[in-house]
Amino acid sequence: MTPSRRLLIIGLIAFLAALAGVFVGRALVDAPRANETELHAMLHRELKLTSGQQQKLGPIEAQFKARREALELEMRAANIRLAQAIAAEHGYGPQVTRAIDETHEVMGELQKETLKHLFAMRGVLDRDQAAMFDKVVVEALTADAR
Ligand SMILES: [Zn+2]
Repeated sequence: MTPSRRLLIIGLIAFLAALAGVFVGRALVDAPRANETELHAMLHRELKLTSGQQQKLGPIEAQFKARREALELEMRAANIRLAQAIAAEHGYGPQVTRAIDETHEVMGELQKETLKHLFAMRGVLDRDQAAMFDKVVVEALTADAR
């Protein structure tokens, strides 16, 4: 095999791996993650926060944003490893299994962090807001069951 041909094949495999990563990553990751991210955005939209509450939330939001971004980076890295495993095994082998477990772990971590954040947010709400918060959260979390 000539070097340029080998390079071409490596490039092709990398491309296919990236493509597989995007598709598998989407199927595995986006659906559950979108839920909580949407829920978070919705709560921020629906709750009429006072400026005092906004101020209290400032550092809480900043901390959550940093944590979320770190986990999203981890998720991207996990998806790349999954794509590489798929390219290496051409099927459902031990590397793919491990890589999928890894993406689930990161996803679970993000879910936990998001819920922790939601409860931190609840801590600054008044009684009416908290009641509305509970209603929205319960509805969102049970939406799939209906
Ligand atoms: Zn928030």
